Amino acid sequence: MNQTILLDIIYLIGSVTFILGLKMMGKPDTARRGNTYAAFGMTLAILGTIFLHNGPIAPIIYGMLFGAFAIGGIIGWMVAKKVKMTAMPQLVSLFNGMGGACAALISIMEFHVHAGDPKTIMMVMAGLIIGSISFSGSMIAFAKLNGNLNKNPKIPGYNIINALILLITLGVGVYITVAGVTDFMWPCIDLALALLYGIMFVLPIGGADMPVVISLLNSFTGLAAASGGFLYHNKVMLTGGILVGSAGTILTIAMCKGMNRTLFSVVFGAFGEGSAAAASGGATGGSVKDISIADCAVLMNYSKKVVIVPGYGLAVAQAQHVMHELEALLEERGVEVKYAIHPVAGRMPGHMNVLMAESNVDYSKLCEMEDINPEFETTDVVFIVGANDVVNPAAKTNPASPIYGMPILEVEKAKNIIVNKRSMAAGYAGIDNELFYNPKTSMLFGDAKKVVTELVAELKTM
Ligand code: NDP
Repeated sequence: MNQTILLDIIYLIGSVTFILGLKMMGKPDTARRGNTYAAFGMTLAILGTIFLHNGPIAPIIYGMLFGAFAIGGIIGWMVAKKVKMTAMPQLVSLFNGMGGACAALISIMEFHVHAGDPKTIMMVMAGLIIGSISFSGSMIAFAKLNGNLNKNPKIPGYNIINALILLITLGVGVYITVAGVTDFMWPCIDLALALLYGIMFVLPIGGADMPVVISLLNSFTGLAAASGGFLYHNKVMLTGGILVGSAGTILTIAMCKGMNRTLFSVVFGAFGEGSAAAASGGATGGSVKDISIADCAVLMNYSKKVVIVPGYGLAVAQAQHVMHELEALLEERGVEVKYAIHPVAGRMPGHMNVLMAESNVDYSKLCEMEDINPEFETTDVVFIVGANDVVNPAAKTNPASPIYGMPILEVEKAKNIIVNKRSMAAGYAGIDNELFYNPKTSMLFGDAKKVVTELVAELKTM
């Protein structure tokens, strides 16, 4: 068979596996398989490109290519194997940044080849600018999520400064394209400007915004890769890039919807910043009520309906398996149990779905926020485990709060509220939570895994 036809068939298979894989990743029960399909398609596409795209190449180049694969593959495998579920967003940011860096490096390498040709240099500059922004922005997001960087440093007039840097970056890109610039200094200047913009763009964004920023940067990397696909006339790179770009964009929109923000306000509004007074939610203080394991077990045992709200703390404690045990035990006793899943609970999109799927919870029990909110009124006990921001009523009641406007789980409508966390410490957004002082709320302090294990043991004695 003709090599070009064979390569086209390989690319077609690659593209189909990407689409299938992405579709399967939409459901927890098929997500793992979807990932494997897409990885298979990617491997096939890479091998096809190496062996069939340009015909035979020098053995030394093969050696370098496969040497790089081996090093990158081993490092990636080890890091992904070892990473804790709670550190996943950092890892996603880091890997995403690598994709952006690749696109930027390809562009800077290709500059000499295409300089002076407005049609192709336009793609080179698009890849260079978008890839660089994605790289430096992702590195800042990584540092923030990893706790290495102050969450929202205040930069006076940052919107104007940022807009100026972006305009100059784009202006230089247009100049290089239109004027047919061949001097290598110019793309280097634009690279530096785009890197700077990426840093400045993510630096002031903080608080509860990171989910949106991560998926936005993800879509940038997809677009940067797609411009590489145009450049090399590589269909599978183009398809892959477009899929990442569009999936990232859809996720960004879904995240904005989940937090009731416009993308404009996330990028330009410094959402998540707030004064100390605002951050307190304006309704703190008062006394909190404790509950013992025994009383909590009795309350749950004699309830008709219990709704569990999992949050970041449940993931940290790795309490998902014992939580499933608790749910099964209650169901055995005729208690209806459901899980309320907030779209930004945890530290990455879909975090709670992945976590609960890991413990084999029936998917029909995982309820989206819109579906479960009307049910709280008829709930006897809402059991909040390691969640904080996603149940903070300040999002509805306090316009000065940094999370004001974010839709939350309306747990305060339930008859009894039990909150499990280790202390009165704040969650990701760094704000106090008036829910803890609600007369209907009882605090069950302690590590989630320990507490739920004790609850299970107590219930078994009843
Ligand atoms: P929060 O971060 O608001 O709160 C988690 C709570 O868990 C803390 O208050 C902490 O309190 C408690 N906790 C920590 N460890 C344990 C433990 N071992 N056992 C019991 N409790 C524990 O989590 P939510 O899930 O409510 O909200 C997610 C937040 O993260 C939102 O603000 C969201 O915007 C943000 N975010 C979400 C991302 C996403 O994509 N989902 C990405 C990045 C940020 P204590 O220390 O007292 O135990």
